[in-house]
Amino acid sequence: MEDEEINRLILSNILEKEFDVLTAANGQEALEIARREYNRLSLILLDLLMPVMDGYTFLEEVKKEPGIKGIPVIVLTSEREAEVQSLNMGAADFIAKPYDAPEIILARIARVIQLYEDKNIITATQYDALTGLYNKEFFLKYATLFDQYYPDDEKEIMVINVNRFHVINAMEGREYGDKVLAAIGKSIKEHVTESMGVACRYNADIFYVYGKNEGHEEKLMQTICDALKPLLEDADERIRIGVYSGMDIGVDLSRSLDHAMLVCNGISDKYHRKIVYYNAQIQEKEHLEEKLMHDLDRALSEKQFKVFYQPKYAVQGDKPTLSSAEALVRWMHPELGMISPGKFIPLFEQNGMIGKVDRFVWKEAARQIADWRKRFGVTIPLSVNVSRVDVLNEELAGELRTIVDEAGVDAKNYYLELTESAYVDDQSHIVTMAQKLREAGFSIEMDDFGTGYSSLNMLTSLPFDVLKLDMVFVRNIHNDSKAYRLVEFVMDVARFLGVKVIAEGVEYLEQYEILKKLGCDVIQGYYFSKPVCAEEFERFIKE
Ligand code: C2E
Ligand code: CA
Ligand code: CA
Repeated sequence: MEDEEINRLILSNILEKEFDVLTAANGQEALEIARREYNRLSLILLDLLMPVMDGYTFLEEVKKEPGIKGIPVIVLTSEREAEVQSLNMGAADFIAKPYDAPEIILARIARVIQLYEDKNIITATQYDALTGLYNKEFFLKYATLFDQYYPDDEKEIMVINVNRFHVINAMEGREYGDKVLAAIGKSIKEHVTESMGVACRYNADIFYVYGKNEGHEEKLMQTICDALKPLLEDADERIRIGVYSGMDIGVDLSRSLDHAMLVCNGISDKYHRKIVYYNAQIQEKEHLEEKLMHDLDRALSEKQFKVFYQPKYAVQGDKPTLSSAEALVRWMHPELGMISPGKFIPLFEQNGMIGKVDRFVWKEAARQIADWRKRFGVTIPLSVNVSRVDVLNEELAGELRTIVDEAGVDAKNYYLELTESAYVDDQSHIVTMAQKLREAGFSIEMDDFGTGYSSLNMLTSLPFDVLKLDMVFVRNIHNDSKAYRLVEFVMDVARFLGVKVIAEGVEYLEQYEILKKLGCDVIQGYYFSKPVCAEEFERFIKE
């Protein structure tokens, strides 16, 4: 046997333990095998010394063929110069003869195959299989490239969304839903091919389009709706486009995407317009919200939050008597002045920061009860608001209990206002939580009653002590017979359940008188007083 033949045998033996090996006697044959089996090959081992077609020619040929040029080639050689030349010609690596220990050879081969397969995975996942558009990672990459190609053009970003897409899935089946998405993908692709943009499916039914700011939105909308018409009759009602264009767009792409997404999400059924642009007003609101989030911790440590109190009067006696008060937070911002909770509570509820504010208010209210008792010799019960986010905290009852205990306040003089809409969120959880809170000694007021659409059936299964009629019912009670009858009905329900009723938002004498006549127990509203600071509130105690 010749040396070369022995070499090949050794190598085959090493390899066959781990891989499927196809052997070829010469370059020509190897090329033929490669053409036939290219999608099974992870690697070509090439001996430079071959009859018929030498190794270098083989390398050249391989690089010309689209199907096989990506397959890595490892060159087997005993000459140092040949190593360099073959690497220059596109070989991935070389193995020197005589051969090293089998483990070393196997390790080298495994590394090259791994690299090749990783790269293949990347090319395979560059596209979204359903629509043929880029996926989000590649979208970002190509959008950045786009910026480099067109540095001087103003760009825009569009977020496209199908309203209530899940309904299509649920009603027509996933397959149909996929057809809808594929049709949208196809029309977006057409659009970006023509307008030279970059597009992707971000996830589910959300698409991104990035390109020059040349006012393409209406046209894109039209293209998508035309493509969808055969599948979806109400296509032009359903497609929403949020647009962001601005000078800073390329500077921070993901931020720009957030802007476009924000406006897209904000397009409601009520809007006639389905294309909405991020504008100065939205930006201002966003900036304000960012500022408020940023300032929160500092505000807490610098005591910028103040608790105001709005009196509640028991009205069924000869004359109204102060029965309790609701604690309502205010933010005394050093730059922005007094900010009402309507501006920051919903924001902090969304991002979960509300707990910090609430805890401050809860402690402050407990301290206040004790302080007034000490100075005036009377206990004014206070109610505090418990946000729907707080209710998710399993330790809530214990925490509140600690707060009142530390202030030396009896839990029965500390009322918790839970908004009705939280009951609707997750019934079973809130029922358990409400039970725990009552067991800890607190009274529960169901706040904003009538706005959360809770069913009568639900009311009977819920533990609460007071029903707080929302001000929308009170507003028209003196001039709208329907509102009047509704309140009458609620009073009956409350009597049936054995709970008290508070009416809030009472502003006028007529409202007050009607509510009193209908049997409402407690009244809160501007009719008596706006929420005021603690010092001012003391006037009501003295009276
Ligand atoms: P809410 O709990 O329904 O509080 C009643 C709101 O109605 C208060 O607004 C009060 O100032 C206002 N109001 C009272 N009487 C009248 C009236 O006769 N006419 C009118 N038009 N309005 C009246 P405020 O203080 O701006 O609070 C708004 C909301 O912010 C509250 O609604 C509550 O949901 C939330 N909130 C306030 N303080 C806190 C707090 O410490 N924690 C939590 N989680 N939420 C709070
Ligand atoms: Ca309340
Ligand atoms: Ca309320």
